[in-house]
Formats: sequence, structure tokens, C-alpha cells
Amino acid sequence: MHELSLVQSLLDIIEEYRDGGKFRKVNTVRLSFGRLGGIEPAALRFAFDVASRGMPAEGAALEFDILPVIVSCLDCGRDSTVDGFTSQCPLCGGDVLVTGGNEELRFLEMDVD
Ligand SMILES: [Zn+2]
Repeated sequence: MHELSLVQSLLDIIEEYRDGGKFRKVNTVRLSFGRLGGIEPAALRFAFDVASRGMPAEGAALEFDILPVIVSCLDCGRDSTVDGFTSQCPLCGGDVLVTGGNEELRFLEMDVD
């Protein structure tokens, strides 16, 4: 499962932080990724729950900042935010380049005790 390896690197980051500033428990972890990043929030949450068992991150809430899909039109030059992958400009029907929404999973911040 793709999400499991993502969670593993996430837990590595959390453990690294723990070496610096001691904390007992992680309350919230904020993450971001693009809507087209191929990440399933429910699968990620499940993988996190399983992999964090017995660690300070166990039971932490995950918050997701899901970045929108943005396309840039090659014809009219305008940027649009769209719901999912598209190859057409919603404004003029022209060809587009996807310029946002492919972002990989990123660790933003966490709240600890
Ligand atoms: Zn256009």
C-alpha cells in the first residue's frame, strides 16, 4: 500500500522532532497534498493508525490541507480552479496545463504535549 510508505516517512519526521524537543504525545498533525496527488485521506488515516501504535503519535488527529487543481489555459491565458483532472479550459474550452494539484504529501506542522 502506497499510503503505508508515506506514513512511515511521516513517523520518521515526527521521531526526529522528538529527539530535539521532548514531548509525550502528538495531538494533531497537519499535512498537505494536491488533489491529484493520488493520496486517499481515509487510507492514509488508516495506515497512520496502524503504523503509529505504541508511538507518541498514536491516536493523533490528522488534518489535511488538500490543494486544489489549477489549470492554466494555453489559449486564453487564464488560470482556473477545477474539481478534478481536465484537459480543457472551463472558460474557453482551450488546451490547458495542470499547474496545481499534483503536490506530494508534505508535513506542515504538529501540535504536541
Ligand atoms: Zn481558456
